[in-house]
Amino acid sequence: MDLGTGNQWSSVSQAGLGSANHVLDALSVPIAGNLAGLELLQKRDAVILVDMPLQEKALIARIRRTTRQGSRSIIAGIGDDAAVLRLPPGHEVLVTTDFSLEGVHFRPEWHPPDVVGWRCLTRGLSDIAAMGGEPQAAFLSLALPKKLAQRWVDRFIDGMMRLASQFEISLAGGDTAQSPDGILADIVVVGSVPRGKAVMRSGAKPGDRIYVTGELGGGSAALDEFYAGRKAMPRDFARHFYPLPRIAIGRFLRAKGLASAMIDLSDGLSTDLAHICEESGVGAEILREAIPLASVGRQGTQVKLRHALHGGDDYELLFTVPRGKPVPSRIAGVPVTLIGHMRGRASIVLRNDKGVGVALKPRGWEHFKP
Ligand SMILES: [Mg+2]
Repeated sequence: MDLGTGNQWSSVSQAGLGSANHVLDALSVPIAGNLAGLELLQKRDAVILVDMPLQEKALIARIRRTTRQGSRSIIAGIGDDAAVLRLPPGHEVLVTTDFSLEGVHFRPEWHPPDVVGWRCLTRGLSDIAAMGGEPQAAFLSLALPKKLAQRWVDRFIDGMMRLASQFEISLAGGDTAQSPDGILADIVVVGSVPRGKAVMRSGAKPGDRIYVTGELGGGSAALDEFYAGRKAMPRDFARHFYPLPRIAIGRFLRAKGLASAMIDLSDGLSTDLAHICEESGVGAEILREAIPLASVGRQGTQVKLRHALHGGDDYELLFTVPRGKPVPSRIAGVPVTLIGHMRGRASIVLRNDKGVGVALKPRGWEHFKP
């Protein structure tokens, strides 16, 4: 019997020892397109089961039903051993993978399941946006505790599919397993970009202007509410609950040849700007008063500067543009703000409007640590 490779939701599943019949092998199967992160999902004593638990069958059926059909890039998707993708001619492949872990990236008591699904896919799409790419297909690996209610899983999938349909991408495969502890989701997004045109973190030069899209700090400001024991409502903290990846802006900047370097703000401005500086071998200077602070809460209160500087989860784009190249004040309907410039000296300075500068150390998002 052909067991397949198990990486495409097909007929083979993996689970812990002793959970069902038809134990064929005491070793875990090699997984096609194996990713370093998958090791976490596999216990060394994992076994192969020919019969899937009903819940898993239902899950795969549901994903298959709800995922968008008729994607031009997916020749074969869920149900085969591996997905077959066709990318536009003259394009290169972008691949990104991101974990969403219970207790690390989300908390079930704070985040409704559809929000967890939405945010999980945002993380992957945002990385494709930051390269100036087009998302083509997504792959989801889920490890779920045995006792998790099917309703949680259904709503997780619904949230993810809602975002997927906005960006016209489909789930083309994945894997499921039983988690010994906590919910683990890994999203892989495959994208494409015209050959040689991917916007890297490494292209910034001294003198380049630094821009950000949208407003900053809205992604993490909701955490203040949670930690204070208050309920943060999705309508008041949209950027936290339903962040949108900036695909159209990344595409525009790449197509116009404007951005010399780009990154998405997933960890926070101080940390993500440091990534550009490090990869480009340059430093930066930003103006405190220029940083666009998000408005949150029912009253539309401006977030604290620390959220804009160090909070994560904004999924806006941070990019550099050679001096003298004009940049529109809005791209795809989103404001774009000049916040500083790159410089030769390898450190980051935060200057106020009186000209006083302080060193800005990377103190980005620390995974829900208060
Ligand atoms: Mg990124």
